[in-house]
Amino acid sequence: MVVFTQTEFIYDKDRIFRQLHLKENENATKYTHQVFPKLIKLAKENLKITTCYSIRKNITHLNLPNIDCCKYVVSCFCSCSNKINEVIEDLIQKNEFLDGFLLNHISNEILFNASNQMNTQLENTINYLGLRLTKRHSPGENNIDLQVQENILRNLKDETNLEVSLTENYMLEPEKSMLYYFGADSQIESHSTKHDCKTCDSINCPHRLVD
Ligand code: SF4
Repeated sequence: MVVFTQTEFIYDKDRIFRQLHLKENENATKYTHQVFPKLIKLAKENLKITTCYSIRKNITHLNLPNIDCCKYVVSCFCSCSNKINEVIEDLIQKNEFLDGFLLNHISNEILFNASNQMNTQLENTINYLGLRLTKRHSPGENNIDLQVQENILRNLKDETNLEVSLTENYMLEPEKSMLYYFGADSQIESHSTKHDCKTCDSINCPHRLVD
């Protein structure tokens, strides 16, 4: 069964400024402070976030790497509607490049936070079921082929009508979408769903935690 989760619209303005390397008293920083409320309003009106996961028996045809030792597979999906991309594109078309760039970053950050909220809810369910999770696996990272996205999507779409597809280059449509999976079993070492940037090789990840 696919479980759709409710998440809050959460962002941390200071963290966003740190991620963007915006320092006090610089012109770009002053400008960002000024437009920030407008961009948050645009994000609130246009993001339309979907978060869901499914827990299923790990049978052969699912074919997801690194979780052969687990009885269950957990497939996770988080996405925004295409509307937010249209709004960003519209800003860029009007030569409001910085606003478009900032809205893009803010939207990614809010989606990332929604995914973390869903992961916490998932962890509670997994604990309740007496299971433990492997670490998170994402196609495109740590030698897992992007093509594996097909298997995760098939797994989710077997059970529900999700408005998401893959292009021929295995890019997700809507573009602002995240697809990842965990193994789950009662006999494995437990892993947190929290992101551990110190051990992650995604150097260019826009969500990389900064101190
Ligand atoms: S860099 Fe950090 S936030 Fe980005 S994918 Fe890796 S662990 Fe997650």
